Amino acid sequence: MTVATQTKVHNYSAGPCILPREVFEKAAQAVLDLDGSGLSILEISHRSKPFEAIMAKAQSLVKELLGAPEHYQVVFLGGGASMGFHMIPQNYMKPGGKAAYANTGEWASRAIKESKLAGETLVVASSEDKNFNYIPKGFAIPTDADYFHFTSNNTIFGTQYKQFPKSPVPMICDMSSDIFSRPVNVADFALIYAGAQKNMGPAGATVYLFDPAHLGKTGRKLSPMMDLNNHAAKDSMYNTPPVYAVYVSMLTLEWMKSLGGSAAIEKRNAAKAELLYGAIDRLPLFKGTTAVEDRSVMNATFVLNDAALEPTFDALWKEAGISGIRGHRSVGGYRASMYNALPLASVQAMVDVMEQFAQKHG
Ligand SMILES: *Cc1c(COP(=O)(O)O)cnc(C)c1O
Repeated sequence: MTVATQTKVHNYSAGPCILPREVFEKAAQAVLDLDGSGLSILEISHRSKPFEAIMAKAQSLVKELLGAPEHYQVVFLGGGASMGFHMIPQNYMKPGGKAAYANTGEWASRAIKESKLAGETLVVASSEDKNFNYIPKGFAIPTDADYFHFTSNNTIFGTQYKQFPKSPVPMICDMSSDIFSRPVNVADFALIYAGAQKNMGPAGATVYLFDPAHLGKTGRKLSPMMDLNNHAAKDSMYNTPPVYAVYVSMLTLEWMKSLGGSAAIEKRNAAKAELLYGAIDRLPLFKGTTAVEDRSVMNATFVLNDAALEPTFDALWKEAGISGIRGHRSVGGYRASMYNALPLASVQAMVDVMEQFAQKHG
């Protein structure tokens, strides 16, 4: 099989996004022949022995990388994290009960919208007053809420919780854009969920890691497809799981383990973020858009002080092989997404362009 040569593109895409080169190579090989079986990963049953082993491995690697307690369960479902926004109130909110949410951006807002359809939804903290450019702190979570939901990293606005809230009620977190980027204490969470396509794999799978003790408690009648307990009882095979997305996620999880797990990955990510934010702060042409203490290690958002220079800056970074740093339409400017697989060398390439630009136009 021929594999395309290593590309020279520095891929800053916000999601779907960069994955490790070696994962692409293994994933490409498995499309043609899965582990010498003579069959493609795309043509085997999800109930075949090879796929059962892939699913089991992916599930155990999720727990291992996050150091999850033994009794926590893992399922991989389709539907994206956005389906999770709907499933969470279904699985955790009592009929007539209420939920507490922190609103720190577009994805948090969408989760709130879904919860409101299910029942009373209290927004206990929000940073909407400043276009979500900071993380609210020191807010109270009512002890009579059925659960508390927050978004650990705000992909669009570039903010990230550096310390997680302390919740008196079961805590649920959308970690779509920073799962496996740092160690977390899983036991503090009733449920962590994440769409695969930012730090774990390709689009198409969403991982749910949860303490089963908090499920099946609401008395709400659930469609089996919306019931996390049902998916767990069927070991993520109630219906056909997203086979290929789970396979490629498993390869990426193996790669993260080979790097030394989430503590080692946190160090790599910190070095990348330091390098980029250092340039943003040092070069007067650039300005970060978020509160400094809440800056995301995954998605760095910034603008040019003189927007008229954007076309000049754009030409420079494109010429350097940089891709995907255009900011989201709700923030403008630029967003550099530095997910786990982005190498430090790509950040250096970006900083070189920024320095070059500053020398000419500063
Ligand atoms: C991308 C993203 C989502 C949406 O994921 P889908 O898989 O498109 O539904 C949700 N939450 C966060 C934090 C995200 O970054």
